[in-house]
Amino acid sequence: VFNFAAGPATLPENVLLKAQSELYNWRGSGMSVMEMSHRGKEFTSIIQKAEADLRALLKIPEDYAVLFLQGGATSQFAAIPLNLCQADDTVDCLVTGSWGDKAFKEAQKYCKPKVIWSGKSEKYVRIPAFDGLEQSPDAKYLHICANETIHGVEFKDYPVPKNGLLIADMSSNFCSKPVDVSKFGLIYAGAQKNVGPSGVTIVIVRKDVIGNARDITPVMFDYKIHAENNSLYNTPPCYGIYVCGLVFEDLLAQGGLEEVEKRNKKKAELLYNAIDESKGFYRCPVEKSVRSLMNVPFTLEKSELEAEFIKEAAKEKMVQLKGHRSVGGMRASIYNAMPLAGVEKLVAFMKDFQARHA
Ligand code: PLP
Repeated sequence: VFNFAAGPATLPENVLLKAQSELYNWRGSGMSVMEMSHRGKEFTSIIQKAEADLRALLKIPEDYAVLFLQGGATSQFAAIPLNLCQADDTVDCLVTGSWGDKAFKEAQKYCKPKVIWSGKSEKYVRIPAFDGLEQSPDAKYLHICANETIHGVEFKDYPVPKNGLLIADMSSNFCSKPVDVSKFGLIYAGAQKNVGPSGVTIVIVRKDVIGNARDITPVMFDYKIHAENNSLYNTPPCYGIYVCGLVFEDLLAQGGLEEVEKRNKKKAELLYNAIDESKGFYRCPVEKSVRSLMNVPFTLEKSELEAEFIKEAAKEKMVQLKGHRSVGGMRASIYNAMPLAGVEKLVAFMKDFQARHA
C-alpha cells in the first residue's frame, strides 16, 4: 500500500528490509539489536554512527549536542522551559497550529509564555510577516512549530528572536530539507514521521545553554545529564535509534538533504497543483507561500463525498488519508519515504474521482 499516515508513517522500504535482514543476528554478533546491552561495543558503534550521520546530514556545528531521548516531542514541551528558564521568565510563542498551541499550553505550567501571534481565529492557514511581530524584550526564547502536522503550515524561513533563543519543533519536517542549525538554540523532533519508529525523540541543542535546569527538573528531562552521558544515562530506545541510524545512512546515500528536498518539492508541487487545478472540487485552505511539503490537508467542495473518497482510495491501496479528527477532510502526509509513484497514483485517483463525481 501507499501509506499517507501522519505518523507513525511510512519508512523507506530498503531500510526496513535491511533491518529485517539483520533482525536476528546483527552483523555477526549473534544478537538482535533488541537484545544488546546499551553499553556494549556493538550498540556503542550504532549510536555513535547514528549521531555522526545525523551531524553530517544537517551539518550540525560542533557547539551543538545531539541527544537521543524518549517521551516524544510532547515531553519537550515541558523539558524546554524546565531547562531554559525560571518560573517567572517570559518566553514568546508564535502559534501557527495545534502543536504550537499545545507547546504553549504546557509551557504555562513552567514559565510565563506569551502568544505573540496566533492563527487560531483564521483556522491556522498562514504565518505572519516577521517584521510586524511584537516580541517581548525579555523573552528567554521564541518557540515555533516549524511544520504544523495537522494544519499543513510550514515555515519557509525563520523569525530572528530579539534577544533569546529560537526554538523549533521540527517533528514533522525533520531531515526533509537542509536547515541552518546555527540559527536555533534548540531543535527537537519525534522520530516517527521522517526518520524512524516512535519512541525516539531527537534534541539538537547549543551546548552553552545546557546546564541550567531547575532543581525540580526530573533527571530524565535534564539535558546536562543526557549530554554528559552521550544519551546513555539510562536505557535508551535502542532499536529505534538503530532504525533512525539506518535512515540517516540512507538519506546520506541519496545525496543528502539538498537532494531529499528536491524530491519532496516535486511531490508536493504535483499534489498541490492537482488540488488547485481542480476548479474548486478539491481545496487546500493554506496560504500558498507556507504550504507544507510534508502534510497536505485538503477538503472536497462536496463534503458529503469525503468518506467515499477515503474509502475508495483505501480500496486502491492508498491508506490513511483521513484528515485529523480536529479538522476533518483529508490529509496526505508525503514524508521523505513516500515515493513519487505514491503521489502520482493519488493524483490520478483524485482526477478520476472528480471526473466521476463533479
Ligand atoms: N509536534 C508535532 C509537530 C507533531 O506532529 C507531533 C505528533 O504528531 C508532536 C509534536 C507530538 O509528538 P509525540 O507524539 O512524539 O509526543
